[in-house]
Amino acid sequence: MQVGHKIKIVQVPVPTPTLYPHTTTNCYLIGNENESLLVDAGYDRKETRDKIVKAINENNLAQPRAVVLTHSHRDHAPGVRQFCDWAPTVYCHEDEKQDILKAISPITSISCLQDGATLQIADVDLTIIHGPGHTAGHLNVFIPSEEVLLAGDNIIAEGTTWIGPPEGNMSDYMQTLNRLKQLKLAKIGPGHGQWVLNPYEQIEFVLTRRLQRENQIKTLLKKYNQQTATQLTEKIYENTIHPSVFFVATKTIEAHLIKLLTEDAVIQRGIHYSIK
Ligand SMILES: [Zn+2]
Repeated sequence: MQVGHKIKIVQVPVPTPTLYPHTTTNCYLIGNENESLLVDAGYDRKETRDKIVKAINENNLAQPRAVVLTHSHRDHAPGVRQFCDWAPTVYCHEDEKQDILKAISPITSISCLQDGATLQIADVDLTIIHGPGHTAGHLNVFIPSEEVLLAGDNIIAEGTTWIGPPEGNMSDYMQTLNRLKQLKLAKIGPGHGQWVLNPYEQIEFVLTRRLQRENQIKTLLKKYNQQTATQLTEKIYENTIHPSVFFVATKTIEAHLIKLLTEDAVIQRGIHYSIK
């Protein structure tokens, strides 16, 4: 253990059926030999448990007494079923509770955490930050003493997070990113991929990408008028994206269109959108 650090924060990538180019979801262990907590539980299969138990042993950590689920998606939440014998307290946000219950059924006992809540693990404070956008009740775990943010799918190491309506909301997502970049950060633990060691640059990169996409959509609507989300996605990405992610790219374009609708910048007729 590093001098001055009361806890370890261990990234445990577990194989999941997630989105290209990622093939794993990160779970995180926080704590020491006396007490620990798990953030996200991966996909529901034995391999998930094996990877996490191995990381616990290698890092001399206590068996986690609690699991924080950042959100309900199948590559983040259902793996908690693999740890029932530990009887951990399972935490999520109120706005995610119904989807989490569906994802982790038959487990029914979960506790809700509000924005700003504090959990103590091995005498270290963890601050819970509600960051909606990817999903309505998405949670982040911030460890101020280590300047580490575990961001779930708000930040991923390669590329940008998809935002899929109706659970995904682009306005909320951009507000969340603007809020996260106010934190004092040394690094971000993303939901997928390696530690992000340039946290502010990465958050700016995502914000800039989203604003560019929004402007691109407005430009295309001015040029072509009457476009569907799919037509816009084809024009924006042409053949540059992996076919397996075309659907999520379309959903993200749809999320931008909904944001522009609420801002009164575009109008919708059926499945067609045009500039106002
Ligand atoms: Zn997700």
